[in-house]
Amino acid sequence: MCGIIGYTGRNKAVPYLIRGLEHLEYRGYDSSGIAVSENGEIITVKTSGRIKELKNKLSGIELRAKCGIGHTRWATHGEPDDINSHPHSSMSGLFTIVHNGIIENYLPLKKELISEGFTFKSSTDTEVIANLLEKYYEGDVLSAVKKCRNILEGSYAICILCKDFPDVIFGTRKGSPLLCGKDRQGSFFSSDIPALIPYTENIFTLGENETAVIEKEKICFYDSEGKKAEKTSEKIELPRQSAEKGDFPHFMLKEIFEQPRVLKETLDSLISGEELFPELSELKKSFFALQKICFVGCGSAYHAGLAAGILTQKLGNITCIAETASEFRYGNIPLDSKTLCIFISQSGETADTLAALLKAKEKKAKTLSVINVPESSIARESDSVIYTKAGPEIAVATTKAYTAQLISLYLFALCFAHERWQIKRSERDLLLRELRTLPEKVRKIIGQKDKAELFSTLFDGKNEGWFIGRGNDFAAAMEGSLKMKEISYINTGAYPAGELKHGTISLLDKGTPVVTLCCEERLFPKTFANIKEVKARGAKVLILAKESFAPSLTDEENVFLLPDTADEFACLLQAVALQLISYYTAEKRGCDIDKPKNLAKSVTVE
Ligand code: GLU
Repeated sequence: MCGIIGYTGRNKAVPYLIRGLEHLEYRGYDSSGIAVSENGEIITVKTSGRIKELKNKLSGIELRAKCGIGHTRWATHGEPDDINSHPHSSMSGLFTIVHNGIIENYLPLKKELISEGFTFKSSTDTEVIANLLEKYYEGDVLSAVKKCRNILEGSYAICILCKDFPDVIFGTRKGSPLLCGKDRQGSFFSSDIPALIPYTENIFTLGENETAVIEKEKICFYDSEGKKAEKTSEKIELPRQSAEKGDFPHFMLKEIFEQPRVLKETLDSLISGEELFPELSELKKSFFALQKICFVGCGSAYHAGLAAGILTQKLGNITCIAETASEFRYGNIPLDSKTLCIFISQSGETADTLAALLKAKEKKAKTLSVINVPESSIARESDSVIYTKAGPEIAVATTKAYTAQLISLYLFALCFAHERWQIKRSERDLLLRELRTLPEKVRKIIGQKDKAELFSTLFDGKNEGWFIGRGNDFAAAMEGSLKMKEISYINTGAYPAGELKHGTISLLDKGTPVVTLCCEERLFPKTFANIKEVKARGAKVLILAKESFAPSLTDEENVFLLPDTADEFACLLQAVALQLISYYTAEKRGCDIDKPKNLAKSVTVE
């Protein structure tokens, strides 16, 4: 979480820092700040609130510095006020830093530093790093960094300014991402790709415990021992406008609309001629011996795992478990070499998912990850990787990255079941043909956005709502409910439709909105009975059903019909309709759709 930017070069630093922070704001937005080296001094300007507050604060200040760092925060330690905002300086002001992550042992370190005479201004964990650097500094920043690394526990990406080196920025990382790049105007640090896209396509990704030192015309890398290291850049092929909103009022809407293309490109990239996942040839050899598959993720990625698990279990005839990463990492699911663990994460940096992956590796389970951002920590640590082609996702609530995960995992289920001889080639190909129709079907649903807007009135004036379904439809209900909660702040719950009468239905009041997901053919009569039960108690029901169910729904008031597809794939189509309904609900309520309160993109802290 949080965004970090650094620039040193030929031009004034502040505009670069602000532009970078604007691109990174989705990573954290409770406060922000910059620090620049100006005439031998380090000047810091920071404030609580959004980047626009920072711009206001900077508007009367003339800063000519050509080297500086910036931060947009998602507070973990200390409330988001002016003082706790980053950058933070060491006691004498020799070092000024920005930090992404959590220092887990900051309290004992802080006590020790105080007993040695160091003073602190903030209640953040970050300030400890600044003072430690000062404590260990004897003229060589790299060796001070190394000494700090030996005692800091937790995760961090840090950019450092040192008064003694006014045109240089030092950056290091452990557990949180840090990238750098260069163009003719200077060199950059960033915690994420979108801030670098406007300047360069050639990106260097720092490895664990590596340090980079950036100057106007060069970047040097050092390994964990402080020895100079060679590093090659990765070419990031992203259109520059992919990090811009264009004509859309919100990134979320833009990203919803991008889904037909993203889904098609993702599928195309995973199929070569007749072969699915040609790059997973090693992993495929293990399919026969596997006894269990665990799908692990957080938030929507977990929901993608839930839906994928249902399909893989059915087609592949294997036990599938879906678990949230935060439970998996401390839980006791038996893991061994006959278990495949699939880790799902848009950013590839989700802290809990990374920790869950490390645990699975330790237990000798096979590991596969489904990742959107290349060169990320989870991708690097996994035995095999499936890359989705969603491109940068800026809205905090995921849309295109989630459906890209889903379509990749559906494809994986077909591949797995076929390679394991549980479905015939002809069955695989039939399902594959259906899978290939999904991008077009998603386009059709997006074409019905006015209908989604109309149905969103169900939530007018409501502060709670339910999403119910059975089987695959329940997986869709989970995601629909989360999307609604995230961006509209309506307290929604997702329940298996058959569970209501075992407790939840006591909550039902007249007028409670109940969104019913109803695409599983064999479960339709059961879910239909649940619709009747909630309606009998005054619920206002919206039904999302397949077109072919229309004749059975003629008496129903609010029905959103979705293109027919295989039951197993319907979750993806439902997700798109539910994204639109949530979007319009949140819009009417005047919510900050792209940056919901208390949230941030890419959760790199536990
Ligand atoms: N732990 C630091 C803080 O609370 C950094 C949080 C972040 O990653 O934004 O200030």
